[in-house]
Amino acid sequence: MIPAEFEYEVAGSVDEAIELLGSREDAKLLAGGHSLIPAMKLRIARPGTLVDIGRIAGLSYVREDGDGIAIGALTRHQDVATSELLREHCGIVAHTAGEIGDPQVRHRGTIGGSVSHGDPASDLPGVLLTLDAELVATGPGGERRIAAADFFTGVFETALGPQDVLTEIRVPSLGGAGWAYLKFSRRAQDWATVGVAAVASNGGAKVGLVSMGATPLRASAVEQALASGADAAAAAEHADEGAEPSSDVAGSADYRRHLVRVLTRRALEQALSG
Ligand SMILES: Cc1cc2nc3c(=O)[nH]c(=O)nc-3n(C[C@H](O)[C@H](O)[C@H](O)COP(=O)(O)OP(=O)(O)OC[C@H]3O[C@@H](n4cnc5c(N)ncnc54)[C@H](O)[C@@H]3O)c2cc1C
Repeated sequence: MIPAEFEYEVAGSVDEAIELLGSREDAKLLAGGHSLIPAMKLRIARPGTLVDIGRIAGLSYVREDGDGIAIGALTRHQDVATSELLREHCGIVAHTAGEIGDPQVRHRGTIGGSVSHGDPASDLPGVLLTLDAELVATGPGGERRIAAADFFTGVFETALGPQDVLTEIRVPSLGGAGWAYLKFSRRAQDWATVGVAAVASNGGAKVGLVSMGATPLRASAVEQALASGADAAAAAEHADEGAEPSSDVAGSADYRRHLVRVLTRRALEQALSG
């Protein structure tokens, strides 16, 4: 329960963080520390150097940007959950941030850390995938935008390179579109046994799944069924198609397959009526 020895550096800017990541062996960024530090205590993670980006000014914000909303990577879950701008224009992101962990986790954990960690049980990545959000990363070669569909590549794996810093998350303004994020967990503060996001779109809906495979997933078969005229209940029967849920202490794979169909029906009913 005590981390292995490591060096500690504080980055004053994104450029300095990139430079430190490149010049130190096995360096890792530290944001809110609420995923990385527990992993270090279990010695699943053993970075040689922690590069603390938590004090970089100007990376914590929620603001309008063109047609959408830009969220700084260091914005804490609590600030996302209580953002008036998000509540009004992209309520599913604010709502979901409020469902994460407990107050202590929400006051320390950051949206950038949650996304970069690549945990398939995390709530926000599934919602960002459903929204077709864009992730902005800065590395030695400059800034690039990555579609959420291309970002999550495996369990704890993302499209970020070893010297990349995620700086911004860009989500669309939903106007009056209905949405829902339903999360089932065994205890109030647990990660999702299964989570389902639904956003009404062009008479159908976009649907994303949490804890149903190695990465967050889009429930394409559900989306196609809706587009072909199926109602919520019939479309939801396709929710586990293509998914590869694991069995663990939170539930068996079969249980997850059942649960995802139930939650998808409920999420669709809510989103399509909103
Ligand atoms: C008790 C507990 C309960 C929790 N419950 C939930 C839950 O219900 N749902 C949920 O979704 N999450 C949950 N979490 C996880 C929580 O949301 C974390 O805060 C979040 O996943 C990681 O954010 P962080 O800022 O703490 O990142 P850190 O722990 O600091 O970093 C996580 C990883 O991301 C990398 N990283 C961080 N920031 C950046 C960046 N800007 N650019 C590139 N890489 C970066 C780090 O190097 C590290 O590899 C829980 C955590 C705890 C401890």
